[in-house]
Amino acid sequence: AARDRVAVIGSGNWGSVAAKLIASNTCCSDLFDDEVRMWVYEETLPSGEKLSQVINREKENVKYLPGVKLGSNVVAVPDLLNAVADATMLVFVTPHQFIEGICNRLKGNIRQNAIAISLIKGMEVKKDGPCMISNLITELLGIDCAVLMGANIANEVAVEKFSEATVGFRHDKRAADKWVRIFRRPYFLVTPVQDVEGVELCGTLKNVVAVAAGLVDGLDMGNNTKAAIMRIGLKEMRFFSKLLFPSVRDTTFFESCGVADLITTCLGGRNRRVADAFARNKGKRSFDDLETELLQGQKLQGVSTAREVYEVLRARKWEESFPLFSTVHLIATGALAPSAILEYSEHTPRQI
Ligand code: NAD
Ligand code: 13P
Repeated sequence: AARDRVAVIGSGNWGSVAAKLIASNTCCSDLFDDEVRMWVYEETLPSGEKLSQVINREKENVKYLPGVKLGSNVVAVPDLLNAVADATMLVFVTPHQFIEGICNRLKGNIRQNAIAISLIKGMEVKKDGPCMISNLITELLGIDCAVLMGANIANEVAVEKFSEATVGFRHDKRAADKWVRIFRRPYFLVTPVQDVEGVELCGTLKNVVAVAAGLVDGLDMGNNTKAAIMRIGLKEMRFFSKLLFPSVRDTTFFESCGVADLITTCLGGRNRRVADAFARNKGKRSFDDLETELLQGQKLQGVSTAREVYEVLRARKWEESFPLFSTVHLIATGALAPSAILEYSEHTPRQI
């Protein structure tokens, strides 16, 4: 049988690690083509060189994952259609705000027997309601899309510190097993779970809780308060997920994509870090401004996800049942002070 060819669409902090994981499995395999093409949203570095050229010379993403070799079989490709040409396995891993435009460019330009997986934590809200990113990919490209989420701070996985991840799939267990094979390493344990919405909503919603945890850190509230925020956040994550998709399983929240990702992101993630700075500046500097200064090109997902979640809550008149999610959004827009995260999280949510 022909070998599968993998393309990675995205080359940020996590995208680069994904390419490294995959390349270490495709190299010398009978099942997969050795080469892993990684689409790079091209930019010019301060040295005047193109990022993709430097990645191909150094085999290192010097901007988004400096100091880590990706593997000699990773090829950076700045042209999107060239990156996916002949690929049978498509890995989507960009900040969530860019995915719709990317899929529109890919329409009609991918192999129809290709399978996809999304590592993207986020959602889109359309006129008729919320749309998960995996679903957007399926709708725009007409192909099956699984998800991979988990407690995976990119810089830690990059240096091969042990972690776990969850593959969420809808029906296609054979495709899920292929995804597990392409990602797993001795230091990266991947478990398939038949609950694509549950896995994706965990990864998406924990970013909103991480913003709340960062605010609490910035207010110097200590560990007990932060644990309370994480507990309340986890309950809102589960409640929201089940209201949107009654099929979501409770057990999913105990997988790596659930409570483990929530913990690691609230302890050491970028959303936490920027929200901490936001609270220390008493909300006087915007999240956009702090993101630019602190993350140097990397992108926050929690603030835009809080807005998207809030749009859903408002449309369905559910705000009062989700005081933590609502408050994070209102703090991010400046409607409430950072300290409101404490006042509001004390309230018992109204039952729907
Ligand atoms: P990132 O935060 O490093 O974002 C930077 C990337 O966005 C760069 O590749 C940049 O070229 C690209 N970009 C900037 N403007 C663009 C545009 N207009 N169009 C297309 N691309 C553009 O990215 P990341 O860390 O790889 O995150 C991707 C997804 O993976 C996110 O949903 C994130 O939540 C998730 N994730 C991240 C981590 C992590 O630790 N970084 C871990 C797990 C999951
Ligand atoms: P941050 O984007 O907050 O760094 O979270 C990374 C992540 O998703 C870890 O699993």
